[in-house]
Amino acid sequence: MNIIYDIAIIGAGIAGCMVANEAKRRGLNIVLIDRASTPATGGSGAAGAFISPKLGKVTPLLSLTNQAYKYATTFYSKNYSQYFDKSGILRLPKDTNDEPNFYHYLDKLNLKGVVFNEQDLKKYNIKNEKIGLFFKDGGVCDAQGLCLALIDGINYKQLNVLHIEQKCEYILIQKQIKAKKVVFATGYEGYEKTFEYMGINGIWGSRGDFWTKSKLNISIHKNSSISCVKNSIVKLGATHIRAKNPTKACMICNGEPLNDLIQKSYQLIDLKDLKLKETFCGMRSGSKDYFPLVGKVIDVEYMLKEFPQLKKGYNKAPLKYIENIYILNGFGGRGFVLAPLMAKWLIDNIVEDVNIDKRVSPDRLFLKWVRKIK
Ligand SMILES: Cc1cc2nc3c(=O)[nH]c(=O)nc-3n(C[C@H](O)[C@H](O)[C@H](O)COP(=O)(O)OP(=O)(O)OC[C@H]3O[C@@H](n4cnc5c(N)ncnc54)[C@H](O)[C@@H]3O)c2cc1C
Repeated sequence: MNIIYDIAIIGAGIAGCMVANEAKRRGLNIVLIDRASTPATGGSGAAGAFISPKLGKVTPLLSLTNQAYKYATTFYSKNYSQYFDKSGILRLPKDTNDEPNFYHYLDKLNLKGVVFNEQDLKKYNIKNEKIGLFFKDGGVCDAQGLCLALIDGINYKQLNVLHIEQKCEYILIQKQIKAKKVVFATGYEGYEKTFEYMGINGIWGSRGDFWTKSKLNISIHKNSSISCVKNSIVKLGATHIRAKNPTKACMICNGEPLNDLIQKSYQLIDLKDLKLKETFCGMRSGSKDYFPLVGKVIDVEYMLKEFPQLKKGYNKAPLKYIENIYILNGFGGRGFVLAPLMAKWLIDNIVEDVNIDKRVSPDRLFLKWVRKIK
């Protein structure tokens, strides 16, 4: 009770584990808190954890994602190669309209990859496809193994955090833990009111691990993902169901969410004797504009009290933040791709006061939100 940690991190998904890892590398005294007794029980435990670039029109979100992809592939290969199967990832066009784009993506997106023609694809027994792009640096993580390895040697406390209190020299968490700073990495849940302006929402997803007698040494993504086969197991994922309530989303899945994924995989490749080993499901947490949420948290109560004209479009008020509170969230369907770079940026900000990249700072969402409140 007397220890005052430098940082307490709430939430032990990939976001929390990665930021704990980054903080420990910088020599900070930290504690990682989760309501579950082990890490990766939320969205992160459900993830297939494919590490794949984003293909499409060049947009700020695509550039950010691919910057994070390059950082993640290097980070995992260098530090956690046991939990990162660098199988390479073969990307296939979504449909015939998407095919012509595949001749230009490598130049346009500045990604290191190789074009696979029909003959190359046949070598991997891929059916009915004319072109693909193979990214040898991509692959697939062991989500739970990686989270556990990231937090090796870090203090872990099982606690459902419902209350924090600002004291003079520290923040008191659930009347038990003291820390100078707190990072909320609570995924889809947690601290709703404080973060309301960020509009955190959820997309439910399911995926499966299957036994197979087939051999496949690359991972593939078309409109769903197929992992390389390791120890006779292939991962197929994942479904996407937008819903506010996880329980409802689960009911929409109707207990048979994986049939569609199996059918999609059969259209691409023959996987022999596919037999379900385990189902995984969980919530991906996204922001309103699909960019991550990294950095300080605005003191909404203060801002509304001091600047009521904000509601009418006034935009000159200097932002005031809740002291020593930070967020790392909104990773959507790419938590394992985004986490290494976003955790680094957050710790750079906390430790060295480096400005947070405007694309990911939650500030971007505040004024829009304020104008809409009644
Ligand atoms: C089916 C599926 C497939 C996916 N596939 C991929 C993929 O292939 N590649 C990829 O990069 N990403 C994938 N994702 C997305 C990825 O899983 C998410 O982006 C990532 O899990 C987000 O991590 P997080 O740490 O922000 O949240 P979470 O993993 O949800 O972690 C939040 C943690 O906070 C804890 N918590 C919340 N509130 C409290 C509280 N009050 N007190 C204490 N603890 C609290 C929870 O217990 C939980 O452990 C997939 C997701 C799903 C669901």
